[in-house]
Amino acid sequence: AKVLVSGANGYIAIWVVRTLLERGYSVRGTVRSAEKGRHLLDIFKGYGDKIEVVVVEDITTEGAFDEAVKGVDAIAHTASPFHLKAVDPQELIGPAVKGTVGMLASALKNGSSVQRIVVTSSCAAILHVSPEPKVFSEVDWNEQSIKEVGEQGKDASGIAKYRASKTLAERAAWDFYKKHKHEIQWDLAVINPPFVFGPFIHDSPSIDSLNESARVWYSTVAKADAGGRSPEFLATQGSCWIDVRDLAEGHTRAMETPAAGDERIIISVGPFVWQDWIDTANALSPSPIPSHTLPKGVPDGGKGAKHAVYYDTAKEKKIFGLKLRTMEETARDTLADFERRGW
Ligand code: NDP
Repeated sequence: AKVLVSGANGYIAIWVVRTLLERGYSVRGTVRSAEKGRHLLDIFKGYGDKIEVVVVEDITTEGAFDEAVKGVDAIAHTASPFHLKAVDPQELIGPAVKGTVGMLASALKNGSSVQRIVVTSSCAAILHVSPEPKVFSEVDWNEQSIKEVGEQGKDASGIAKYRASKTLAERAAWDFYKKHKHEIQWDLAVINPPFVFGPFIHDSPSIDSLNESARVWYSTVAKADAGGRSPEFLATQGSCWIDVRDLAEGHTRAMETPAAGDERIIISVGPFVWQDWIDTANALSPSPIPSHTLPKGVPDGGKGAKHAVYYDTAKEKKIFGLKLRTMEETARDTLADFERRGW
C-alpha cells in the first residue's frame, strides 16, 4: 500500500515516513522544494523506489495536492506552520486551513483509491486556559484562541494565533468531511498531540533552526542556563507531552485501525513542568551528554506542581493501546542525539 505524507521533511512527519517504511508501506512525501526533499531521499535511500518525493510549492493554492493524491491508499496530512512569530494571524491560519481543506478536496477529486485520511491536529485545538486545572478530552474545542484572535487580530499572542490556526483547520476538516461523506469512500481520523519531544532525524543545521518543540526542549533542558528560564518558571510552567516516535506509531495505527475512523484521538503521556525534565536529565546515569553541563534549576522544585491542563486519554488506550515512552527514555535518547551531533 502507498501513503501520501504532506510536509514530509518536518520533525514529526519524517518519523511518520520512517515508521511507515519500516512497516513495509511505500511513501510519497510532499515538500515545498526539491532541495527540502534531498535529505529525505538520502536517509531513506535503502528503501529504493518505496520512497518518492513530490514538490508542492504552495499548499494554499487550489488543487495543490491534485496530482499528489493519485494512486495512494492513505494520506497523512501533517504540513502546517508551527511557530509563534506570526504577526498577521493569517500567516498561520491561511496555510493551516487551506492546506487541510485543500488536501481533502484533492482526495475528493482525484483520490479514488484513498481509504483513510489522517490529519495531524493538536491539543491546541482542544485546550483552553483557565484559572483552575481542567481535564480535557476529545469533546472539547478551543474556542478561546479563536475568540482572542478574532478580537485582537495582530495584537493577539503568538500562541493564540497558532492555536487558532490548528482549531480552525481541524474544524474545517470535519466540516468538509461531513459535507461530502456521501460522495467519498475514505474516512477521516484526527490525531491531537500535545507538545512533541524526542530525537530528530530531519535536516537541521543548528539548534536555532530546529522545529519549535524540539528547540524549546533542548534550550530549556540541555543548555546550562536553561535557555534563560528562571527557577520559578521551570518549577511551575510546562504542558503535556508525547515522544515523537510514539506519535509516529500513533499515525500509523490511525491509518490501520478501522475504529479510528471518524474519531479525533488525543495521544499524550501526561503533564510536566520543565523542572521534571531537568531532574530526569540529571538523574540519567551514565550521562548521555557528558560534554555538556546540564541546568539544575531547583532540584525537585516541580514536585507537586499544579498543572493547568490534563488530558483524558481513554480513547487512545481503547483504540490503539500504545506503549508510550517514559520521560527517562525520551530524555536519554534526545540528549544522546545532541551529543552525537556535537551540539
Ligand atoms: P515542523 O516545522 O518540523 O514541520 C512542519 C511541516 O509543515 C514542514 O514540512 C513545513 O515545511 C510544513 N509547512 C509549514 N508551513 C507551511 C506552509 N506555509 N506551507 C506549506 N508547508 C508548510 O513542525 P512539526 O513536525 O512539529 O509539526 C508537524 C505538524 O504537527 C503540524 O501540523 C503541527 O501543527 C503539529 N503539531 C506539532 C506539535 C509539536 O510539538 N511539534 C504538537 C502538536 C501538533 P517547510 O520545512 O518547508 O517549512
